[in-house]
Amino acid sequence: MILPVVTYGHPVLRAKGARVQQVTPAIKRLVADMYETMHAAHGIGLAAQQVAQTVQVALFDLRDVKDRPSTLEVDGHPADVEAFMPLVLINPELQPLGDPVTGPEGCLSFPEIFADITRLGMVDVAALDQEGRPVTFRCGGLLSRAIQHETDHLHGILFIDRMSRKVKEELQPELDRLQAETKAALKRAERQVSQTG
Ligand code: ZN
Repeated sequence: MILPVVTYGHPVLRAKGARVQQVTPAIKRLVADMYETMHAAHGIGLAAQQVAQTVQVALFDLRDVKDRPSTLEVDGHPADVEAFMPLVLINPELQPLGDPVTGPEGCLSFPEIFADITRLGMVDVAALDQEGRPVTFRCGGLLSRAIQHETDHLHGILFIDRMSRKVKEELQPELDRLQAETKAALKRAERQVSQTG
């Protein structure tokens, strides 16, 4: 089922996700719905907060991106990024590696807004997969950027928090407009709920 993607101004985007204790049928259903939602929105990553769920579940699919390379190492050996997709990460923990790299970034919760963001070039990742099995790997390039972006979401951190002051100032009118639209839509939805029930 395709879920609505919440936009900037919705308070759930600032909520920290609870760690998943057990991969229950409800979590598996959430993963399946998030996957459908991400594909429908042409995204390469999605965090549970973006579909209004406060749990530490994120997923990725970089197979359609050909112009921004990624690197992947599993057990110290280079591995095929495409074969690793789609990737589900539950309770991901990141260890920083490598130098900071600046690159363009967007976010499904900020439609039409793009900015250069500086992030670590590589990270070591430890997480659970969709079956609850531990996974560890090292990644760089776009995959590293996407995982850092989505892991931030799981902790209520947004890419606007990582923008330079100058970039954020330039985008401020657009951000303010988006925030106001989201809040107005939430108010309308609340009124409808109180009228019907
Ligand atoms: Zn995002």
